[in-house]
Amino acid sequence: MYPNRLNRLLAFIHRQRQRMNLSIDGKIQERLEFLMRLGQRQWGKQLKPHVKYDLKGKCGGQAIWPNIIRVNLPLLVNNEEDYLKNTIGHEYAHLLTDKLHGLGKTKDHGIEWKEVMWSFDLEAQRCHNYVTNLPKATATLHTNP
Ligand SMILES: [Zn+2]
Repeated sequence: MYPNRLNRLLAFIHRQRQRMNLSIDGKIQERLEFLMRLGQRQWGKQLKPHVKYDLKGKCGGQAIWPNIIRVNLPLLVNNEEDYLKNTIGHEYAHLLTDKLHGLGKTKDHGIEWKEVMWSFDLEAQRCHNYVTNLPKATATLHTNP
């Protein structure tokens, strides 16, 4: 392949990837906005999380006080619907629980967190059951259009 064509192809792939990442990010923002409104209505408080896509391995998601949610991108793209609903809900519930009761005042998956989960109409489960031993090629497949 000529270098020009290769460059155009690489630029095309780059744009497609950006578009895909944007749409995934857009879906997360949409889900978070829903949870913020719901939490505001149920608990009278909300917070706006900052999302980082840097989580790797078996961990589904992570909440970091006061306002960070770390997302495991391969698990998200391979379990999109469930991940948006349950994992984003799970992590947002951690942040909201800490905001309501104070950092370190409750157990990580204690009754206060469970009550927030139930108010979001979610099952208060500690763990996800996504397949985590995906080969890299499989994870990449799903992010490409
Ligand atoms: Zn948790």
